[in-house]
Amino acid sequence: MKAMARPTFDNAFVRELPGDPEAGSRVRQVEGAAWSAVEPTPVAAPKLLAWSRDMAARLGFGDEELQSGEFARVFAGNASWPGMQPFAANYGGHQFGHWAGQLGDGRAITLGEVVAADGARWELQLKGAGRTPYSRTADGRAVLRSSIREFLCSEAMHHLGVPTTRALCLLGTGEPVLRDMFYDGHPREEPGAIVCRVAPSFLRFGNFELPYSRGDLPLLRQLADFCIRRDFPHLGGHGEALYADWFRDTCMRTAAMVGHWMRVGFVHGVMNTDNMSILGLTIDYGPYGWIDDYDPDWTPNTTDAGGRRYRFGWQPRIAGWNLLQLANALSPLFADAAPPLQAGLDAYGEAFAAAERDNVARKLGLRECRDEDLALMDDLQALLKEGEVDMTLWFRGLSQVDMQAPSMAPLEEAFYDAGKRAATAAALEAWLSRLAARVREDAVEPAERSAAMDAANPKYVLRNYLAQEAIDLAEQGDLSGVRALQEVMARPYEEQPGRQAHARRRPDWARDRAGCSMLSCSS
Ligand code: AMP
Ligand code: MG
Repeated sequence: MKAMARPTFDNAFVRELPGDPEAGSRVRQVEGAAWSAVEPTPVAAPKLLAWSRDMAARLGFGDEELQSGEFARVFAGNASWPGMQPFAANYGGHQFGHWAGQLGDGRAITLGEVVAADGARWELQLKGAGRTPYSRTADGRAVLRSSIREFLCSEAMHHLGVPTTRALCLLGTGEPVLRDMFYDGHPREEPGAIVCRVAPSFLRFGNFELPYSRGDLPLLRQLADFCIRRDFPHLGGHGEALYADWFRDTCMRTAAMVGHWMRVGFVHGVMNTDNMSILGLTIDYGPYGWIDDYDPDWTPNTTDAGGRRYRFGWQPRIAGWNLLQLANALSPLFADAAPPLQAGLDAYGEAFAAAERDNVARKLGLRECRDEDLALMDDLQALLKEGEVDMTLWFRGLSQVDMQAPSMAPLEEAFYDAGKRAATAAALEAWLSRLAARVREDAVEPAERSAAMDAANPKYVLRNYLAQEAIDLAEQGDLSGVRALQEVMARPYEEQPGRQAHARRRPDWARDRAGCSMLSCSS
């Protein structure tokens, strides 16, 4: 058998940034360092359960490599390749609005940075590979259910066109993990798993907040310079002007990311600043959820149920608050910080407003979004909430409504409750007539308009209950549900004959079931 093709590593993060002098996983406060060297803890029985063919190909892994035992051993942390330099990153963060101090990669271990054949740089990171100095009292492991959710959703988001970290593969560890899913004193053993996730950079707002909180200006500056050099090579200039452009770029990327979340109905669930990527990538898939019936006040996260800080409709403002925390952290880089940082925050507001208008135009099938079209969308959203209407089915069905003679026929599947349907039908029909009048002003070919709408309104999203059904099967050793979802979610905007079951509204049994409507951080 020929030797397996192994990737080339170029570990800029550990080469260019100061590391913790102590190695190993003793829990500690780590000062003056951006990372700590730590090896993954081997597992009992590594088994490759699923992989992303697309991500594998980008990294140069073909089917032969993927199927080899060596691949499973390396990505379970039982073996390593030359050039890997495993580490856990040191960062802090604001959790639920409060400064939480040092957090760090408690159960994520980066193996190294791969430079792919096309020159792209990818950091490979194992999630669930064992304890690190940042594990605090936890075990550094991950359960199968949450690993499947991260694996499937990050790839689904990529195919939806949402900026996101990616996932290379999902492995079973052959070891149980003890979890108290709802923190109510009922722990149970669950199968353990590891996801190898992949991104150009895993730097978070919290990486910058931690040295700021400690008054460690040299480390803050080193991190900023490194991040700009490695992750923002398109930015030119130097000094304060460069820092200002960089912050502004992160603001713009964050606006674009949240704009996409609002378009597709994704609720992150834990928008703490340690879960905000400096590159504006969706990161740290935990108790996230997808909107079924349109409800801007819904949060999937049971830990968030009290204040609902991370509810769907608040995501734009929370992202803005998080950027304000980043701005504070970066302020020591400037002699007069307020003007450039405020300019970045203003750019966020403007970029999000532009993304929102773009969503209105694309989702409703308009050439452009006029001021009065914002009101048209607001009125629709109020009705969708009142009528308990499925967001995905409504917008997908909307492209099938004949704007010469509008009717609700293509939208019937979108209703969850007959009584609420009856109560809002007249208002929704009146709204359709308003839309039809507006659409006629555009004079676009109906087929062209429908195609454009279908490219903005996905047919298939990773509904919470769909993921849970696949998880239930996988916990019995049957990966077919995971594979089916991978295939469907790879082409979310296309009609896929025979896949109707994946495009249906949430069934009644899933309304209040754990994993389908309520998710916990326990993972
Ligand atoms: P999260 O809310 O998942 O972003 O996690 C917040 C912090 O808790 C991060 O520092 C994580 O690395 C850490 N953490 C979460 N779960 C675990 C775990 N099972 N073992 C160790 N650390 C964890
Ligand atoms: Mg996190």
